Amino acid sequence: MDQWSIGRTVLLGDAAYCGSPASGQGTSMALVGAYVLAGELAATDGDYRSAFAHYESKMRKYVETNQNLALEIINDFIPKSRTEIFFRNQMIRLLPYLPGNGIILWEDGKTCGTSRQCY
Ligand SMILES: Cc1cc2nc3c(=O)[nH]c(=O)nc-3n(C[C@H](O)[C@H](O)[C@H](O)COP(=O)(O)OP(=O)(O)OC[C@H]3O[C@@H](n4cnc5c(N)ncnc54)[C@H](O)[C@@H]3O)c2cc1C
Repeated sequence: MDQWSIGRTVLLGDAAYCGSPASGQGTSMALVGAYVLAGELAATDGDYRSAFAHYESKMRKYVETNQNLALEIINDFIPKSRTEIFFRNQMIRLLPYLPGNGIILWEDGKTCGTSRQCY
């Protein structure tokens, strides 16, 4: 979607940037979007035009990065043969035993493209 707001109306979550089933991340994008939008509305003291513009510029890269995960993941997500299904299932069974289990991955201290700004 080219634009997430018009006038006094603004979209967030699935209504603005629904992720693909292959990328997931829809809940994260909705929660981060709500947090950034609320923070920008508070920071701009009710100037919704400015808040909506800041919200969108801060969220765009994060949303695009997450949506693009689908392009990277789709080949693994839909195995093309019984052999690929077998290896995919073995890898999933191995996950709890791999090092780093339980650690949330951060990309250079950023959540997939957005800096963690606190409001
Ligand atoms: C099967 C499935 C599996 C998923 N798995 C994952 C996952 O593993 N990880 C992940 O991150 N995301 C997942 N998602 C996506 C995730 O659920 C959504 O991205 C997320 O819920 C979007 O939040 P939202 O607040 O934008 O929309 P929603 O959670 O859809 O909330 C919209 C709300 O608005 C209400 N509503 C609609 N119309 C009106 C109206 N006219 N008046 C009042 N209320 C209204 C609805 O009842 C609903 O409660 C999955 C989605 C599906 C369908």
